[in-house]
Amino acid sequence: MNEALLRVVNLVKYFPIKGGLIGGEVARVHAVDGVSFTIAAGETLGLVGESGCGKSTTGRCILRLIAPTAGEIWFDGRDVTNAEGETMRRLCRNMQIIFQDPYASLNPRMTVGAIVGESLVIHRLVKRGRDFEDRVVQLLETVGLHADHMRRYPHEFSGGQRQRIGIARALAVSPRLVVCDEPVSALDVSIQAQVINLLEDLQEQFNLTYLFIAHDLSVVEHISDRVAVMYLGRIVEIAPAQELYAAPRHPYTQALLSAVPIPDPTVARQRIVLQGDVPNPINPPAGCHFHPRCPHAMERCRSEAPLLREVAAGHLAACHLND
Ligand code: SF4
Repeated sequence: MNEALLRVVNLVKYFPIKGGLIGGEVARVHAVDGVSFTIAAGETLGLVGESGCGKSTTGRCILRLIAPTAGEIWFDGRDVTNAEGETMRRLCRNMQIIFQDPYASLNPRMTVGAIVGESLVIHRLVKRGRDFEDRVVQLLETVGLHADHMRRYPHEFSGGQRQRIGIARALAVSPRLVVCDEPVSALDVSIQAQVINLLEDLQEQFNLTYLFIAHDLSVVEHISDRVAVMYLGRIVEIAPAQELYAAPRHPYTQALLSAVPIPDPTVARQRIVLQGDVPNPINPPAGCHFHPRCPHAMERCRSEAPLLREVAAGHLAACHLND
């Protein structure tokens, strides 16, 4: 793998909850609580966890769609966290997002051509007219759509086609990093594989780097080089994909993995059913955040937060069982 293109260091995002007579801050949602990782150029990092674990918030902080509370984000050696003006505009060009919901993320009043080409105009990459149309047609064809689709509106397309429009929009400015925020979660299973295959082809064609966010380990298995598992705002395990699936070291990853269906009917996997729900991120449990649901919890887990440490080459896990 190449040098790190993206480096996230101790990222924290708390959302204040206002209340009381004067509307002051009465509590905080601990959405992201000290997350660190890198992604190499051309690599795909899968980021997985149940809804509310902070994975989408992490993606949005990286793109500065929301401001982090603390921590650092570096893209190709440049400080994203404090970037402003022209520097931020250039960074935005290099980092794009594909949203989860292809129904909600496309403006129903804009034609597909205007949606896909909007950022070309914002970033002054082509002039309106012939060049603009040629580039939009090229983008539509790159994602498997047709030139005559550019004059139609989003409601005229299926879910899979709308996600292709979202992908064309992200590609318009030739980004280097794409945050894929649950890009197939809203699609039928039969369409999911097509969109994932398309993303893989585009990665090869344009040397893209992906942060691929999903709530299900089965979705990221084939597209990811490495996988990070998040629980309640923290990364609990990160490893090369094959190793994480073959030998998960954190009880939460083991439970998630036990729910992934195995295509071979002769191989049985014992399902680990977690008790209870994910605790409230306003008041996360002390010690290991996972201890109220962990089948292996020990006394020290209730007070001492485990550090994310290397358990094998390139494989990190945050669990006292690995000490
Ligand atoms: Fe379970 Fe303790 Fe490991 Fe947390 S640190 S995952 S509670 S064994």
